Amino acid sequence: MRRIPAAFQAIMATITDNLQAVKDRIARAAAAAQRDSSSVALVAVSKTHPPSLVREAHAAGQKAFGENYVQEALEKMDALGLPLEWHLIGPLQSNKTRPVAERFDWVHTLEREKIARRLSEQRPAGLGELNVLIQLNVSGERSKSGVSAGEIPALARSIATLANLRLRGLMAVPEATPDVGLQRARFRQVREIFERLRGAGFELDTLSMGMSDDMESAIAEGATLVRIGTAIFGARASVRGAA
Ligand SMILES: *Cc1c(COP(=O)(O)O)cnc(C)c1O
Repeated sequence: MRRIPAAFQAIMATITDNLQAVKDRIARAAAAAQRDSSSVALVAVSKTHPPSLVREAHAAGQKAFGENYVQEALEKMDALGLPLEWHLIGPLQSNKTRPVAERFDWVHTLEREKIARRLSEQRPAGLGELNVLIQLNVSGERSKSGVSAGEIPALARSIATLANLRLRGLMAVPEATPDVGLQRARFRQVREIFERLRGAGFELDTLSMGMSDDMESAIAEGATLVRIGTAIFGARASVRGAA
């Protein structure tokens, strides 16, 4: 049997422990909100981390992974060859829609009808509908991605007409702040818009919000999916630009 180097064993133990710690945080936050912890899905955000760490997380039972950059994600999928569930959580440009339609299971960052139409046209028959979320610009900062609350209903209506997409809900990345009250207010805004869309007849079940530093606030306000990177894989070496 091939010997596993000690340093690598240490990484394996760390990721398994980190995943368990994140699941414990989710369970505590859900319990505090009188919610079932099974109502909060965990997407492990593996951007900038090598395939070997994704493999370790998978070995520890994790199935869903989030990536921000299309090219990096495709390379990782090819290197891994595992039946994982892939979520695109970074901005998507129209010249990159085809590989996303062909290889991802979820897109969290829809903000334009044109991109939605291309994804639907390019989704291969037999793969089933691509799950999509509209990204809401909740903080209203011009520099941030996402659409304003006022633009959401029209975009949702146009996505609902596309045969190969299934609109599941909303995603948001509020500005980072240590102020728990502000975190909760931002997440509450997202949930309210989500509930309004449901009231208008859209069959939505997914509220993607909450990261390593604010998942408790997001879960308290109704998140059904949290996107966690740092708390599972450790700090990222560098931050890159767009997809
Ligand atoms: C990087 C990223 C995450 C993960 O953030 P952490 O703070 O490392 O947990 C979640 N969502 C999006 C959109 C990201 O870009």
